[in-house]
Amino acid sequence: SAISAADLEKLQVLGHGNGGTVYKVRHKQTSAVYALKVVHGNSDPAVRRQVLREASILRRTDSPHVIKCHGVFDLPGGDIAFCMEYMDMGTLETLLKNGVVFTESLISKLCRQILTGLEYLHSHKIIHRDLKPSNILIDQKMEIKISDFGVSKILQRTLDPCNSYVGTCAYMSPERFDPDSFGSKNYDVYAGDIWSLGLTLLELYVGHFPYLAPGQRPDWATLMCAICFGEPPALPEGTSGEFRSFVECCLQKDSSKRWTATQLLAHPFVSGVDLQSSA
Ligand code: ATP
Ligand code: MG
Repeated sequence: SAISAADLEKLQVLGHGNGGTVYKVRHKQTSAVYALKVVHGNSDPAVRRQVLREASILRRTDSPHVIKCHGVFDLPGGDIAFCMEYMDMGTLETLLKNGVVFTESLISKLCRQILTGLEYLHSHKIIHRDLKPSNILIDQKMEIKISDFGVSKILQRTLDPCNSYVGTCAYMSPERFDPDSFGSKNYDVYAGDIWSLGLTLLELYVGHFPYLAPGQRPDWATLMCAICFGEPPALPEGTSGEFRSFVECCLQKDSSKRWTATQLLAHPFVSGVDLQSSA
């Protein structure tokens, strides 16, 4: 049965994002707990468009590793609310900030799930475009869900280059800074998500954004130059060959050499991962 705003009781604020607030809520009749994302949809038409795009993506996705949405409704005053499944450990960024150490074996378990989610999205012609630790939710069982489809895109016939410069620049692949690559036939639109995955895994392991020293604040021009003209970042010595190779397959600067989600699922770093066994 459908959930309505009146059935939900706010428990606490979980966090604030761009243009919205996420609350932990309880369904009065069933006591089920959800995350309610409230976006101010009345002010800016661009924001409203984004919100409606996110809603339409969430309505058409059904994967164990993509966040589930149980309803989207309008609130008084023009706000729009998404009722989503609640993930009790927050995001991977929260864990990084709390100093959680991610071992290779934990990363391979998380990675297999992220890849499963990405393969699902890509096979449904959805590009996430903003994959990063703060958009990956996790629970006590170490199950992860990809979230935040605010800037994602459902591919129709053609790519709109003018509309492609979105997402957090820091995790963007080199070709996304290059206007010429959008016209190219060989430009693999899904490969940008794989680059972001590679950076995310590296960040989980080293504990900070790989292009910057710990605590260093980004200077966007320098960062963009490093991404486009520098060597891609790599794992330090002492990590396994499988892990290093996996990250390398994701962080190919030439997007046509980058592996796809399906190919990566067969990579030795994640192919043997048993998601049933405990971490
Ligand atoms: P941005 O607007 O750039 O995406 P953000 O990811 O921080 O920033 P939101 O997606 O609005 O913004 O989420 C804000 C915070 O709320 C998240 O960082 C996370 O801690 C929490 N949160 C979001 N969705 C859930 C959920 N389904 N379950 C538990 N916590 C959540
Ligand atoms: Mg987010």
